[in-house]
Amino acid sequence: MNSSPFHSISRRSFSLALAAPLVAAAPTRWILSAGTVLTMDKARRVLSDGAVAIEGNKIVEVGPRAEIEQRFRGARRVARPNSILIPGLINTHTHAAMSLLRGIADDKRLQDWLESYIFPAEAKNVSADFCYWGTLLACLEMSLGGTTTFTDMYYFEDDVARATRQAGMRGVLGQTVIGFPVADAKTPADALAQAEAFFKRCEKDPLIIPAIAPHALYTNTRETLQACRKLANQYKRPLLIHVSETKRENDDMRKQHSKSPTQTLAEWGIFDGTTVAAHCVWTDESDIATLAAKRVGIAHCPSSNMKLASGFAPVVPQLAAGIHVGLGTDGPAGSNNDFNLMEEMDLAAKLAKVHLMDPVALPATTALEMATLHGAQVIGMGDQLGALEAGRLADAVFVRTDVPNAVPSFDPYSTLVYASKAADVSDVFVNGQPIVREGKSLTLRSAEILAKARSYRQQISLSLKK
Ligand SMILES: [Zn+2]
Repeated sequence: MNSSPFHSISRRSFSLALAAPLVAAAPTRWILSAGTVLTMDKARRVLSDGAVAIEGNKIVEVGPRAEIEQRFRGARRVARPNSILIPGLINTHTHAAMSLLRGIADDKRLQDWLESYIFPAEAKNVSADFCYWGTLLACLEMSLGGTTTFTDMYYFEDDVARATRQAGMRGVLGQTVIGFPVADAKTPADALAQAEAFFKRCEKDPLIIPAIAPHALYTNTRETLQACRKLANQYKRPLLIHVSETKRENDDMRKQHSKSPTQTLAEWGIFDGTTVAAHCVWTDESDIATLAAKRVGIAHCPSSNMKLASGFAPVVPQLAAGIHVGLGTDGPAGSNNDFNLMEEMDLAAKLAKVHLMDPVALPATTALEMATLHGAQVIGMGDQLGALEAGRLADAVFVRTDVPNAVPSFDPYSTLVYASKAADVSDVFVNGQPIVREGKSLTLRSAEILAKARSYRQQISLSLKK
């Protein structure tokens, strides 16, 4: 049996491609039409009975269905009159392969969770194979739930990239750099060398944006962090880092450096280039001003902040300061147990409301902007992703509205953010290619991936008893 998780359709089309004559084929054209299209363009157009025309990997036209059908005759079609069509959702912070550790230790304090469970489980199990299968499982779940782009901070990023390409998803994949020996690097210098090699290998990759991910200020030296920034800028790639996630971390760093993590990192030049700062829960007014001035993007992770009781991130003041704040799920091994951006949108709105005791603090429209437009800006692709608009890359998601939880609908933003579920996602396009059709993955073999994840559970449990 072939061990590749590629779906048979992909293998067939691959062999056909090999047999085809060497002439440039006309780019595939698609018309995606839906009862409602939330474009998220500058005018925030909401189209009833609207359509998106795609040519190759780009959106070429958005407008009324009848007009688009007239102009793009002969295009392949996905017509869903009982659906909302939205831009692909962008997960700005996760650790994808930790899917294999899902639920290994819940309801623990962060330090106990890390030291008693996660570090031992990772030390005994994380390998290239673990990262490959863990990322496949994550991609399967993410794509079926409407996520088209994800931002990863983990190990063996070449294998993470391999899984991401097979899923047909877009990945901002950050090689972790951390101040102690880990599965794929004995030293930070080793991790930096691997990151550079990864940058080179992904230079022209259409779906992979390689990145460098120094874990945090408290786990790296100034020299290492500055070397990470230098390398990221040399290759014009993003730097991903955790910032002020917990009060304890923030207080410890303030004691050590006599200023906040944000001010320390800014002073060291770590924010001088595209930066995705995860969490930023404990950021005060001056930190927010600095993050805005340095154009740092924030990955807000509401589920994680709630589950680990990290605190209320000041998302509303951050947005008001002009900072791009995207949404993230964080890892699924205890800080969150799934990769559900539909849920994160809902929670982002509700968490901000209860934090400020103000039901108008963060409306549904803003929550969807965070998962699309802001997410695109955070990862440095603000003009390419995040909206259904001519000229942008064709990442789009259909969400069914012919389900009990979405009927009746008075406002599509409200339906989508507060009522729709990840399971209502029916079809997903990334880079002009369909990867999910009628709720089924077209690129990944679900049964095989689930079986492998179950066998890893056995292996992980046994390893922890030794
Ligand atoms: Zn994280």
